[in-house]
Amino acid sequence: MTGRRFDDDLTEARARDARDPLAPFRERFYRRPGVIYLDGNSLGLASHDAEAAVMAALEQWKHLAIDGWLAATRPWFSIGEELGAMQGDLVGALPSEVVLTGSTTGNLHTLVSTFYCPEGRRTKIVADNLNFPSDLYALAGQVRLRGLDPAEHLVLVPSRDGSTIDEADLIEALTDDVALLVSPSVLYRSGQLLDIERLTRAAHERGVMIGLDCSHSVGAVPHRLHEWGVDWAVWCTYKYLNGGPGSVATLFVHERHHGTPPALPGWWGSDKERQFDLSVEFTPAAHAGAWQIGTPSILGSAPLFGALGITHEAGIDRIRAKSLDLTAWLMELVDTWLADAPYGFSIATPREPARRGGHMALAHPAAVPICKALKARGIVPDFRPPNVIRVAPAAMATTYEDVWQLVAALREIVDTGEHERFGAVREAVA
Ligand SMILES: *Cc1c(COP(=O)(O)O)cnc(C)c1O
Repeated sequence: MTGRRFDDDLTEARARDARDPLAPFRERFYRRPGVIYLDGNSLGLASHDAEAAVMAALEQWKHLAIDGWLAATRPWFSIGEELGAMQGDLVGALPSEVVLTGSTTGNLHTLVSTFYCPEGRRTKIVADNLNFPSDLYALAGQVRLRGLDPAEHLVLVPSRDGSTIDEADLIEALTDDVALLVSPSVLYRSGQLLDIERLTRAAHERGVMIGLDCSHSVGAVPHRLHEWGVDWAVWCTYKYLNGGPGSVATLFVHERHHGTPPALPGWWGSDKERQFDLSVEFTPAAHAGAWQIGTPSILGSAPLFGALGITHEAGIDRIRAKSLDLTAWLMELVDTWLADAPYGFSIATPREPARRGGHMALAHPAAVPICKALKARGIVPDFRPPNVIRVAPAAMATTYEDVWQLVAALREIVDTGEHERFGAVREAVA
């Protein structure tokens, strides 16, 4: 590239930061000095707002004890409904379609239990072989619970290139023996964003129900779950929503399915007016709240009042716009400064804006030791087998300069062979 100097790109990065409308949000998060955090898609950062919300809940526990269920400022009794409704606009859903409850994998079990109804010829679930393993374990378990064999009834559509899934391949697998399609919105490793609207239309035209795992898209990408007609969805709140380690997860059930009896009922799914009748007959709520099971973790929910507040202030459309710009900037720097020998990095994420979520996959044969060398320098990505360095420049907490610094570090690491002193064995939590 004629005349382009790497240092000029630092100047460019700083210019972009200077005109970034989301720049002030960075200070709302706890950031360790000297650390560049690029792992917000695994665990979002703590914020002052989330901390204040947890401390408020703790105070109310101290002062109200049992009375907190109704008398807390944010009554604990309806915390799932309230924090569900607060996510409605992030996913394009009615407030009644979303509830905060359980864990992602647990919610997947709950909804597949209810909505996977093998009948006559329609007995199969279609998923893809790049799906997050926990989701595949749950689906295989659900097939077995029906007395069926996953080898036959859980159809895993293969990736053609090991990184992405072609929507046409998923659609082609929706034959007349399929009951349910379960798909991620964004693939956890490559960061590919699937065309959910197209998949939903194709599934419904073929008489197939569609359920989604949106763990890697909520908080990074806008959704229109209601309008698209998605049947149900699950997601976690500790990634781009910054709810804290193990924060309570969320589920969506389209309005048209409200009133379907939950297959795994529990008292927390009761009509709230009736819950404390403590009747032996279960009266489910008339909305997505029916799929709650037991008492939610109040301390694992409370941070979201603060964390979702920040997301709303920033606005999901501005978050998406900056996220796309940050990942485009990263791709440009990788193409220019890291692709050729001796660097040899390649991008395993689709390049079209409509096909990528919030994180990028950089493929390199020495991904494990390079990740370790980055961490030793205070840059936090994560590793995903076999050869992917995953970086998530989360829009509210990451600067354009952070992205440049990552590329500078990768160049230096390869130039000096710094990674060669680290082993190629990944950590237990990579
Ligand atoms: C993060 C993630 C999960 C996490 O599941 P937990 O039950 O919260 O441990 C599940 N599925 C996908 C696709 C994820 O990205």
